[in-house]
Amino acid sequence: MARERNTSESPAQKGGAPSHTAGSDGAGSKAGFAAPTAGLSDILGQPAVTQALCDALLHGRVHHAYLFDGPEGTGKASCARALFAALNCLQPPTLGGACGTCESCYKLASGSHPDLIPFDMSLSGLADEVDRLIKRLQFPPYEGRAQMVILDPADLLAMPTAVTAANRLLKTLEEPRANTHLVLVTTSASSLLPTLRSRCQRLRFVPLSDDLLRDLLRRDAEATLSDPATVAEGAGPSAADLDAAIQLAQGSIGAARRALADRERLQHNAETAQALLAAARSGRATQLVEAASSVGSDREQANEILEHLWLLFHRDLRRAVQEQRATASQESLIAALRATRSAQQAIRGYTAAPLAVERMLRHIAETLPEHRRKPVGSRPSPTPGTSRHVR
Ligand SMILES: [Zn+2]
Repeated sequence: MARERNTSESPAQKGGAPSHTAGSDGAGSKAGFAAPTAGLSDILGQPAVTQALCDALLHGRVHHAYLFDGPEGTGKASCARALFAALNCLQPPTLGGACGTCESCYKLASGSHPDLIPFDMSLSGLADEVDRLIKRLQFPPYEGRAQMVILDPADLLAMPTAVTAANRLLKTLEEPRANTHLVLVTTSASSLLPTLRSRCQRLRFVPLSDDLLRDLLRRDAEATLSDPATVAEGAGPSAADLDAAIQLAQGSIGAARRALADRERLQHNAETAQALLAAARSGRATQLVEAASSVGSDREQANEILEHLWLLFHRDLRRAVQEQRATASQESLIAALRATRSAQQAIRGYTAAPLAVERMLRHIAETLPEHRRKPVGSRPSPTPGTSRHVR
């Protein structure tokens, strides 16, 4: 009965239409993208991650705690939901798949599945929230085969004010009751407490390929145009708009969608990130201070700029690995990636953005001497997914 009702209400998988799941975390969902009930087979651009999870399902060894780690807008939160869908779907069409029409899939899509446990990562009262979670997890799943908690963004557990919460979480992370899974979603696993990290299985998400970004943006546009409520707003983005958004987005569908919505802002972010890079390479104090102050005091935008910078370093690191450049060169890029994440963390922790960025630039300037004459952002885009994702 439920299935009949759901068939008409859950269009996610009808007609074999592919789901728009890569990177619907972060800004993607903010952009109003209704998340369909997707299985792991619908997660695009992260083959290593989905393969690892499907293998775990196949062997009945889905880990109790995962750390989904990777840049913003690469599908981490979507993947967590897909794992939940696959664990609970009543008629999975494939291993790791979700039918999109059964009662479990329907409840997940409508946001009413009682076994997907929300966790409020807002800073005030985080420790109390952990206590509530621990109490809740003393009980088995209400109706599904498995229950799941998604902590997103788990980065907030790295803040000095969240130490109590993080410590209280440790025991639950170590051995939750059977059929209970926790997924920590982070852009910065290295900033989390080592005790938290070591209790989780870490899966790394990579930036999406330009082709995939283009495909997803086109599908966004088609979905918008086929929606009678928005069709009056006019035609979708032009090919030039798509190109520009993809170029600016550096592998993040969240950034690509933001770019289409506000290209000026992303253009500004990209240029500021390039200026930060140039300043770090120059190593000159006045230039460092000037570049840092150009970031401005808007925390959200400062974090977007640093996300852009992180992706520039990451792209260069992938290339360094592919070209088997000297280890020192790779290590300096890894240090730069860490410094960028630390600065983002500090900004989330209410350090003034220009101050955090200046500190970061000084650190990077010290670790990147051999890169000063080789602009990271000026090379053509590499083939994604072929390198190890090193952090
Ligand atoms: Zn299903």
